Amino acid sequence: MSFRFLSVAAATLRLRRHGTAGDTGSCMSRSVGIQAGRVCPGCGREESVPIVWGLPSSDLFALAERGLVSLGGCLFEPGGNPEWACGACGLSWGREGDPTADEQALADLLGVGWPDVVRVLGAGWRREDACESGGLQWFVSGEPAQVAVGVEAGRFVLARPLVDWGARQDVFPPDGHRFTREDLQWFSAEVTTAAERIASRRRRSFRWCPTCRRPCAPEAFDRTEGMCASCLAVHERFDQ
Ligand SMILES: [Zn+2]
Ligand SMILES: [Zn+2]
Repeated sequence: MSFRFLSVAAATLRLRRHGTAGDTGSCMSRSVGIQAGRVCPGCGREESVPIVWGLPSSDLFALAERGLVSLGGCLFEPGGNPEWACGACGLSWGREGDPTADEQALADLLGVGWPDVVRVLGAGWRREDACESGGLQWFVSGEPAQVAVGVEAGRFVLARPLVDWGARQDVFPPDGHRFTREDLQWFSAEVTTAAERIASRRRRSFRWCPTCRRPCAPEAFDRTEGMCASCLAVHERFDQ
């Protein structure tokens, strides 16, 4: 691995672009702590935290002491710096925009590259919790989940994420047909439109939780108490 020290002038430029020491700047638009789905290629554990490069602020030192970020220092690699630090084996790995383990699995099942998945279906994919047979492996994207893709050997359907009640809704294409890898690669506008139509319908069903002020999927919203499931859990704990 070849590191090089930046000259003082170059280091100053880099820091200015990322914000000064008192302003954590673009770094903090990323979430801190263990990154779900980021499986270390060295040891296979899911214990990696983001690496923050450059001169750290006192806030960043505090986060690093709590193990929520790793401080990379002011060394810069010519090919770009690794994004994640594994808490289990200490490996620094990954680049910005790399797929998570679930995202790579989706691309592999579709038989296309990760950039094709991002271009046509978007990013943020994770395996859907609900276990369901039928041969398809389901992934969802969005927070709360807005669109699902069920895939098997390069063929796939799009649908609304599965909720506790009822069958899958907004399945596309309808009537048991499936998109093919060729649809994804050569007729991608149709696929993208279908995904966005499902996602926008799903978003219209979201409720805003007045307690945490976050969007909430209807199946996770308690109409009687008027709050989301996680706020309700806190509420009930303090009620006892
Ligand atoms: Zn590791
Ligand atoms: Zn809430």
